[in-house]
Amino acid sequence: VPELPEVETIVRQIRPRLTGRTVRAAALKKTDVLRAVSRQRLLRTLRRNRFTAVERRAKHAVLVLASGHRLIVQPGMTGSLIVHDQALTEAQRTYAVLICDLDDNTQLVYRDVRRLGTLLLLDQRGWVSYSDRIGPEPLDQSFTPEVLRERITRSRQAIKKVIMDQGRVAGIGNIYANEALFLAGIDPSKAANRLSGDQVKALHRTVQEVLEGALRASGTTFRDYRTGTGERGSFQFELKVYGRGGEPCVRCGRRLVTTHAIDSRATTFCPSCQS
Ligand SMILES: [Zn+2]
Repeated sequence: VPELPEVETIVRQIRPRLTGRTVRAAALKKTDVLRAVSRQRLLRTLRRNRFTAVERRAKHAVLVLASGHRLIVQPGMTGSLIVHDQALTEAQRTYAVLICDLDDNTQLVYRDVRRLGTLLLLDQRGWVSYSDRIGPEPLDQSFTPEVLRERITRSRQAIKKVIMDQGRVAGIGNIYANEALFLAGIDPSKAANRLSGDQVKALHRTVQEVLEGALRASGTTFRDYRTGTGERGSFQFELKVYGRGGEPCVRCGRRLVTTHAIDSRATTFCPSCQS
């Protein structure tokens, strides 16, 4: 699933193309991506509505409409959100799920090959309760080491699980959790409430470092993730542990270990550098 840097990359690229544009016509090809909205209500809300802002919350793109509604797009592993200048090719049309014709003759297209992503339409009140259930944004100025400490240290669960819990901290998934824990020298299976004060500070620093580094690289592309202009990200070339099980640790040269025991997802770490 695209994490914070990938969705932020998409949002920054489509924002100038989409803001201020009015939807002339909207078409939905598949309904299985819809959450809490019917096809009819979604299309009726989009038609003749105007995009007033494009934002991100956690791993979701938030398209704000003049009516006060928000279209929340959570691109799954195979989803992309692109504004096209030219008529769609046959291939682009094949997996298009939502197509909005805009008043400057461009098209906003949500495309999703396996339809693992979701589209959600919320009114103002629905948005407030939705956003309130998500933890603080790790790249906000207000996200201090103290905020991180408050969010994580009461849990006895593995720190890797805790920092991926969207209710505690927003936007961090498997890739960046692996990377931040390696850079901070923290064992991913360590109980969150057993982290020292220095470890919390280190993790706060490395979470921001790794997310900002990934943003500069337009995200991580293993297979399907594409930016808001259809390009690939390049942070996969900078990963220190994720996807590198069995390879030598960049710090000590010993073999990195991959386990699925923590949260049934791949966790790769260095047993000698992380404790
Ligand atoms: Zn090592």
